[in-house]
Amino acid sequence: MKDYDYDLFVIGAGSGGVRAARMAAGFGAKVAVAEDRYMGGTCVNVGCVPKKLYVYAAEFGKAFKDARNFGWGSELPAFNWATLRDNKKTEISRLNAIYDNLLAGVKATVIKGRARIVDAHTVAVGEQCFSAGKILIATGGWPHIPKFPGSDLAISSNEVFDLEQFPKRLVIVGGGYISVEFAGIFNGLGAKVTQLYRGPLFLRGFDSDIREHAAQEIRKSGVDLRFDVNVESIAKGASGLQVSLTDGSTIEVDAVLYATGRKANLDGLGLENVHVKLSDAGNIEVDGNFCTTEPNIFALGDVTGGIELTPVALAEGMAFARRQFGGVESTVDYEFIPTAVFCQPNIGTVGYTEDKARAKFGKLRVFKSAFKPLKHTISGRDERTFMKLIVDRASDRVVGAHMMGPDAGEIMQGIAIAMRAGATKALFDTTIGIHPTAAEEFVTMREVWREDTE
Ligand code: FAD
Repeated sequence: MKDYDYDLFVIGAGSGGVRAARMAAGFGAKVAVAEDRYMGGTCVNVGCVPKKLYVYAAEFGKAFKDARNFGWGSELPAFNWATLRDNKKTEISRLNAIYDNLLAGVKATVIKGRARIVDAHTVAVGEQCFSAGKILIATGGWPHIPKFPGSDLAISSNEVFDLEQFPKRLVIVGGGYISVEFAGIFNGLGAKVTQLYRGPLFLRGFDSDIREHAAQEIRKSGVDLRFDVNVESIAKGASGLQVSLTDGSTIEVDAVLYATGRKANLDGLGLENVHVKLSDAGNIEVDGNFCTTEPNIFALGDVTGGIELTPVALAEGMAFARRQFGGVESTVDYEFIPTAVFCQPNIGTVGYTEDKARAKFGKLRVFKSAFKPLKHTISGRDERTFMKLIVDRASDRVVGAHMMGPDAGEIMQGIAIAMRAGATKALFDTTIGIHPTAAEEFVTMREVWREDTE
């Protein structure tokens, strides 16, 4: 066998790349990882982690108000953007160092710089070339801002965390979970937020009852949520950015955040030098074992355009390393992947939406619970929780669980385990609840809300 510098050369030290590198090295492979921006990738630096820290910050705003009716003083503390931003930076730097140490701990070589594939066994970083038995592309995604007059004045999620000044007036464009989360963050921190989505209802892909409930709750929380409208142009004015909309109106703001989608990060990667096929959407095509159309070159995580979540990239990294270096058959099961949207309140979801469940299983029984959380009976906050279970009528198996309410993300993890184990509605019903919680509603929904009959 030919002698290569490395058994595995990983391009991208994000969620998927680092996990694959660590596992492969653990199996005894000689591994290098190239990274040109930040250790830990999107999740650690400009994704899940800073986002969740900012969500915590945002939730204090309403909590201080809620506290008044529970007997706490009425003075609302002032928010300081620089404190949040700089404390976040400190925490991210700590995590970056941990990622460096994790790779050093398994004796993987970290090469700082942008990697370019030269041929099926060679990667260049700057002037240096490295040969490898296998190359793994784990370069993730990159925010995409469409071109229109003034589009260069818009920012993406990459920049929004580190803004010099807090944007007191903010337009957020997009209808996916990232735009919804940022709307909640900046609204909670005290900005005047307008969220624009070009379609009739945001959060495409989520259950339609959840989407409607979310629109209602997010509006109640103070976000000016507008559908069927888009940005035509952005121009600099004397007192802010003038954002002209397709409905003829104009909004003046301090910043415009575009969260309308992400594209595979392939710039300068050298794919023209190998036979790696891309999908129509521009993602790297892979089979169930992360093989591209070029033997010895593999890809996983966001760059493949699958389910763009950190735990999915991690699972893919592990399956790849086990199979290629551990001699273990290993694949990823993509059914019943739970996920959350950290808006206020949270959305948590696992399994099929009602529409998709009907298409796959046929006749369904659907259960719901909608209520004011106990806490808000005293806080006075006008917020309602919505929960929904979707049951395959033939097998009684619970095939979808959806919730919008406090801690929905935390609650849904346990429900996901039950659903993956094939739990039936009868099993949910015989499970004793934890009282008083919102989660107990998942085991006490008795009345059918909708049922498909003959
Ligand atoms: P990435 O983590 O993006 O890593 C790719 C790495 O490759 C980057 O560090 C990049 O610099 C590097 N790179 C790219 N090209 C090269 C090159 N040529 N040479 C060297 N290095 C290169 N997921 C969740 O599960 N939960 C969440 O709450 C969540 N929130 C999110 C919030 C935001 C704002 C965003 C943008 C994403 C969020 N995600 C969340 C998604 C999650 O961050 C991604 O799914 C995950 O990071 C994908 O991992 P990856 O390994 O595929 O790529």
